[in-house]
Amino acid sequence: MSRTKVVPIPVMGRHNINAYLLLGRRPVIVDAGTPGSGRKILDQITAHGVDPADVALIVITHGHIDHFGSAAELHRLTGAPVAGHMADLGPYRSGRAREPYLPTGPMGRLMARNRKLHVRAEPVDPAVLIRGETGLEDYGLAARIMPTPGHTAGSVSVLTDDGDLVAGDLIAGSFMGLVPGRPANPPFHDDPRQNLASLHEMLALDPISLHVGHGTPLDPGRVRRWAEKEGDRLARLDAAGRLPVRGE
Ligand SMILES: [Zn+2]
Ligand SMILES: [Zn+2]
Repeated sequence: MSRTKVVPIPVMGRHNINAYLLLGRRPVIVDAGTPGSGRKILDQITAHGVDPADVALIVITHGHIDHFGSAAELHRLTGAPVAGHMADLGPYRSGRAREPYLPTGPMGRLMARNRKLHVRAEPVDPAVLIRGETGLEDYGLAARIMPTPGHTAGSVSVLTDDGDLVAGDLIAGSFMGLVPGRPANPPFHDDPRQNLASLHEMLALDPISLHVGHGTPLDPGRVRRWAEKEGDRLARLDAAGRLPVRGE
C-alpha cells in the first residue's frame, strides 16, 4: 500500500495552531481549528487537490476549542462524519471546554487569562464515537485512532501504519511552536501524569515523527529525552504536593 501523506494545515500563524490532512486512499481531516476557521481549512485542503465532498472523516483529537472549534462547520462544508472520543462528549455537545484549564507552567497560567480560550464553539455531535483503538480502513486510511488520555480524558491520536503519529496536544512545540523542533508541554493538561503515560505508550510503538497541534513535527528521540526529564519533574512536584490534577 502507498504511503499515507501527513499534510499540516496551519490555522493560526505558520504552525501555532495546526489541523492536518491525511492523504491515503481517501482524505481524512484531523482537528478543526478555532471557531470560524472552517473555510480557511477547506480552502487549504482544496489547494492540496482534495474535493471537499471526498473527505471521508473528520477526527477531532480532544475537547479544546482550538481543536474542535470548526468541526460542525467543516461537517456542513464537506458532509463528512465527525469522530470524537466518548469521554470528551460533554465539551463537544456543549461547545465549551471543561474548565478550569489546569496550567502546566507559567505560559498556561498566562494563557488561562486569555478570553479567547473561554469562548463557546458551535456544538458538534460526533456521529462516530470512539471508545477504544479504532482502525480507519473503512475510511480509506491505513491508520488507527489511539486513545491517549491525560491532556483531556477523551484525547486521541492518529497513528498511520507508516508510523506517523498525529498527536493533538499529547506533546507540543516549545512556546506553541515558536522554537522549531523543541518538545514541550502544551499550556494545559487535565492530568499531567496520565498524559505522560499515554506519551510513553505511543513512543513504545516507535513512531517515525510526531505531528502536533501546536508547532513543527517533533523527532521521537528528542521527545523520548524530554519525556524522561518531564517524568522527573512531575515526581518532584508530586513529592512537594504541588502536582495539579483535576478533581472529578
Ligand atoms: Zn488542548
Ligand atoms: Zn491545543
